Amino acid sequence: MNVLLEGYRSFCETADRELYAALASGQQPHTLVIGCSDSRIVPEEIFGAKPGELFVLRNVGNRCPQEDFGAACAVTYAVAHLHVRNAVVLAHADCGAVKAASHPEHLHEEALKGWLGEESCQGACLEESVKNWGIRQLHRLNSMEVVRDALAREELVTGLFYFDIATLRLDYFDGTHWKTGIEDL
Ligand SMILES: [Zn+2]
Repeated sequence: MNVLLEGYRSFCETADRELYAALASGQQPHTLVIGCSDSRIVPEEIFGAKPGELFVLRNVGNRCPQEDFGAACAVTYAVAHLHVRNAVVLAHADCGAVKAASHPEHLHEEALKGWLGEESCQGACLEESVKNWGIRQLHRLNSMEVVRDALAREELVTGLFYFDIATLRLDYFDGTHWKTGIEDL
């Protein structure tokens, strides 16, 4: 626990107090990010965002099942009430969730089986499997009623990112094509 308190002390020394004071009365994030719980994947770092800019849902495997109240609630609140302009899924290299789901025979605990067992993993390599997994989450996101409505009104843009941990490369899927590397966006 000490490591957290030490971190908090250090945070207080450098925190932008004016920003936090301004944020105390509300938030207007521009983007909803559905990211993985993986400790290496920090949306605010990757997108250079400050507190108040990203509304983030993180779960194991950056999943977006409609029947999951956690995902449905985060998406609905961000789109219908906070009026985010972007909603993105953030998939990543070396995703343990995708690796685990590709070997369902190793999923013993009910919680892991229940959350990951229903996902299929298709791809010639892990990167392809992760990307296909991410596309499936994007389709689920796009098919939520609140998202469909916002897309139809052209008030929202949705997409999928793939972050390569070792190189920091960011690929983007716009719903039809992959663009490799941030400089191509
Ligand atoms: Zn992951």
